[in-house]
Amino acid sequence: MSPDPVISLENVQVDFESDNGLLGAFSKPDVVNAVNGVSLEIPEKKVVALVGESGCGKTTLGKTAIGLQRPTSGSVKFRGQDIWEARDGGSDVEVPYRDIRRSLQIIHQDPGSSLNPNQKIVKSLAAPLKKWQPGLTREDRQARIYGMLNRVGMSPPEDYANRYPHQLSGGEKQRVVLIRALLMNPDLILADEAISALDVSLRIEMMELLLELQNQFDTSFVFISHDLSNARYLTEKSDGLIGVMYLGELVEIGPAEQILEDPRHPYTKALRWATPDLLPGDDGEVPLRNIDIPDPVNPPSGCRFHTRCPEAREACKQSSPESKVVNGEHRAACFREETTHEYWNSPPLDDVEPSSDAKTADD
Ligand code: SF4
Repeated sequence: MSPDPVISLENVQVDFESDNGLLGAFSKPDVVNAVNGVSLEIPEKKVVALVGESGCGKTTLGKTAIGLQRPTSGSVKFRGQDIWEARDGGSDVEVPYRDIRRSLQIIHQDPGSSLNPNQKIVKSLAAPLKKWQPGLTREDRQARIYGMLNRVGMSPPEDYANRYPHQLSGGEKQRVVLIRALLMNPDLILADEAISALDVSLRIEMMELLLELQNQFDTSFVFISHDLSNARYLTEKSDGLIGVMYLGELVEIGPAEQILEDPRHPYTKALRWATPDLLPGDDGEVPLRNIDIPDPVNPPSGCRFHTRCPEAREACKQSSPESKVVNGEHRAACFREETTHEYWNSPPLDDVEPSSDAKTADD
């Protein structure tokens, strides 16, 4: 088995040109820096939950990690092999791109959009097996598909296999999409808000199923969510990591317990505060100076969180903090982690009054 992590990202940056509409035809397009300088390793059989407000770059980072988005700069490696070198057919490619593609799968928030409405479930599930395991007989394929349908509680499997997607509930469609990903025998599955559209009662059921299958198939999972409670559920039970993103940057990452019990980054504290079931009874003042999220086309100078951070000082406007080890796998990017940083002799910012608005950090 390779000693390399399943995925390693180093100093990854992803920029997009924004669509300026009709006026854009006469001007240079704005550049949105969706991911900025992120380094991250996803080990074998690990669950990593990426959380943060809408637009923080977590989906872009997830897609970049599984090779569906080319980074503007930095490297993305699968078991030590640069994914984009393999894709471009470089001369010293050790892992063929075809193997990388099979090993990195995705399930989306809306499973209906990734199932052909005119195809029976059995046909949708047989397609990846035909492609990736052409040696299987028709009977082998059917046995695998029925076995998986049974495994996720869709029985009798011959009944579900012969239905069309519109004859399934949202939760059943999500299970089919999960089976389809697992039939590829992947090393990592990116679950992009995969349970957000489900009823609360079904969410727990689906998360339990994800964890069971992750354990059974020894697959790593990157789970993207705007909800810190869901991230906690998945990572506490699997000994996983929670990564917190803000305006394209990974500001804190660590084991679930440390992130929730001892958050070090002021933004993580705000996210935790905005998730009522994590801090029941805490109706204190919102831990933000300003609730407005800055424009990603023109992010703040220095630490990108300084316009909202209640701990911000003048030094935070000048330079950007590096990610420092807090303890083991726990890292945070805040000057307060550096005991000798000039931050401590710098005056507090007083240009923005603390906000007294309601809980909105996780909107
Ligand atoms: Fe807040 Fe400064 Fe830390 Fe950024 S570096 S999170 S602005 S204290």
